[in-house]
Amino acid sequence: MKCPACDRDLTEKDVNGVKVDVCENGCAGIWFDNYELKKFDEIHENCDGLINIKKDPSVKVSDDKRDCPRCEDIKMLKHYFSIKRQVKVDECPACGGVFLDGGELEAIRSQFDTEKEREEAADKYFNSEFSGTLGVRAEEKKEEEKENKEKDGENDSRLRNLFNSILKI
Ligand SMILES: [Zn+2]
Ligand SMILES: [Zn+2]
Repeated sequence: MKCPACDRDLTEKDVNGVKVDVCENGCAGIWFDNYELKKFDEIHENCDGLINIKKDPSVKVSDDKRDCPRCEDIKMLKHYFSIKRQVKVDECPACGGVFLDGGELEAIRSQFDTEKEREEAADKYFNSEFSGTLGVRAEEKKEEEKENKEKDGENDSRLRNLFNSILKI
């Protein structure tokens, strides 16, 4: 599988029984299949081998819309990983896989201590920012779905989809 950022070959690594694809000696990016990132995004979760990945300093990273390394002819969408709006990740609308650039896993892991804390922060944000405009957001969401026919979203909850659409650039 090719790295979506620098086009080098990704190396499969077994991390706590999860097979993650790493751009070792390339751009140090990491590819997570659907739901795999959940297993490593909190600071208490063991992620040996995914921190301080060896990088080739001469490698050039493309910041354009990137192709999903798993799916054919599907461009990934960039959106903020969480409501803290610090880290932008690439997510494939078809397979749900996520690509992180070098260093982004560390940044994500430092944002929230637990999943519960993340959810509470999201709820708070959601209630304060969007309570009055929910109808509008739902309309926008419908429009977007029309444009985005390839998005299958079967693994995403409705709320998560809504957040993604809000946070998407
Ligand atoms: Zn790479
Ligand atoms: Zn994909």
